[in-house]
Amino acid sequence: METCQDFLFLRANSNLYESVQRGKLQFQYFDLLEPVDTLVERMETYRPTIWVAPPSMLRMLADAYTSGTLTTVPDKIISVAEVLDPLDRKVLESVFGQTIHQVYQCTEGFLGATCRFGTLHLNEDIVHIEKEFIDPATRRFVPVITDFSRTSQPIIRYRLNDILTEAAVPCACGSSFTAIERIEGRCDDTLYFPHRQTGEAVPVFPDFVTRAVIAASPAIEHYRVVQRGNGVLEVSLRLAGKGMQQVEVGVKRELMNLGERLECIVPDIRFVPYTFEPGITKLRRVERQHT
Ligand SMILES: [Zn+2]
Repeated sequence: METCQDFLFLRANSNLYESVQRGKLQFQYFDLLEPVDTLVERMETYRPTIWVAPPSMLRMLADAYTSGTLTTVPDKIISVAEVLDPLDRKVLESVFGQTIHQVYQCTEGFLGATCRFGTLHLNEDIVHIEKEFIDPATRRFVPVITDFSRTSQPIIRYRLNDILTEAAVPCACGSSFTAIERIEGRCDDTLYFPHRQTGEAVPVFPDFVTRAVIAASPAIEHYRVVQRGNGVLEVSLRLAGKGMQQVEVGVKRELMNLGERLECIVPDIRFVPYTFEPGITKLRRVERQHT
């Protein structure tokens, strides 16, 4: 068997991940804060067969691949640490011509991974996961985990801050572990719009916002929607090519349609420049801030 080269992008520098060689597997750690040119150069030399990285970094590699500075394509790509947005998944799958796999992990444990079909399954053989449904009609729930296998720090009925959507149908792989259609983001990143009759705060799940923005134009390469403490929606877009004004009109229209469907008043929408740079902070495409 040939030596298999694994590739890791991780956020914090840790001795654990520094170039470890164990048997057939070789791991190499790449710091997300390194300049992208240096990363690309190292990857060209090392040519890893598996990439494990946050989607924001994978998008940068996709750009490098498209521009020709990166010529290596791995056998497997695993998205970690950030929500895999449908837009990012679509771009990555089309650039690299393969399924984007996911690992769902948090400080409380290793909670799920994708099967060969690319479907994320919960690790229900390791961790007991209860589903606290927050919107049963759309199969959205918050996982509540219990892990008896830990002895030093038992985790009992611990409610995570994540919104998951259970798949509507079982996965074709035959696994009996819950199939997840999407990890949507943090509960805290649910936006709130006032109900048009009662004024009551109606939860607007991140995925609703994502779908609305993506539907506006195929030219959108990157976006962020941030709801500020005063309720205002700050939308930032990065396009392939020109036509920003027209796309902004389209995004606004889609958000108004979303408000219509939810019987809500859409807060003021403000367009601001897209400034996110991968590496320093986690990418959250839909976010709610308190200020
Ligand atoms: Zn499966």
